[in-house]
Amino acid sequence: MSEGLALHWRLLQPRYNLIGTMCGNCGDHFFPPRNICPECRRKSKIERFRFSGRGEVYTYTVVRAAPTGFEFQAPYIIAVVALKEGAMCTAQIVDCLPEDISIGMPLEMTFRKVIADDDAGIIRYGYKFRPLDALAQKASDAAVENAASSTKKAVSNKKSGKSSPKKKGDKPKKGG
Ligand SMILES: [Zn+2]
Repeated sequence: MSEGLALHWRLLQPRYNLIGTMCGNCGDHFFPPRNICPECRRKSKIERFRFSGRGEVYTYTVVRAAPTGFEFQAPYIIAVVALKEGAMCTAQIVDCLPEDISIGMPLEMTFRKVIADDDAGIIRYGYKFRPLDALAQKASDAAVENAASSTKKAVSNKKSGKSSPKKKGDKPKKGG
């Protein structure tokens, strides 16, 4: 097994799941994972932490002369992503034209092919980021809300045993 392959497997978990660490003492988040909090040092309470994958463009660059193995993707965008939880990570931005990217643009993590490794015959996958458009953001927020409210409804229906719950505020109030 080559060193590259061993490294690949060792980094598989964090690379697939955007897993870092957080300090339970001060609440700071770290990516890539750190074993000690630079603030708290010996008081560090380091725990594994899975990032939500939401963030925004902190800064970026457009790569036009791609290194070996990446030619098929050029030109492409590399950005420093400020994760919602506070850590930074560097990643490629996909589904976005170089002229459309801007600092502060909301992003979400996505899972894409990183490189096809000819020598070892493996294709490496990993996290990348893509623009989080307002519509998708609305839809995902609504989905979360729906899931939460339908759970609530199911629970309250069970409790009351009513089959046709009437909505509050169906009839307009007099006066007001
Ligand atoms: Zn700390």
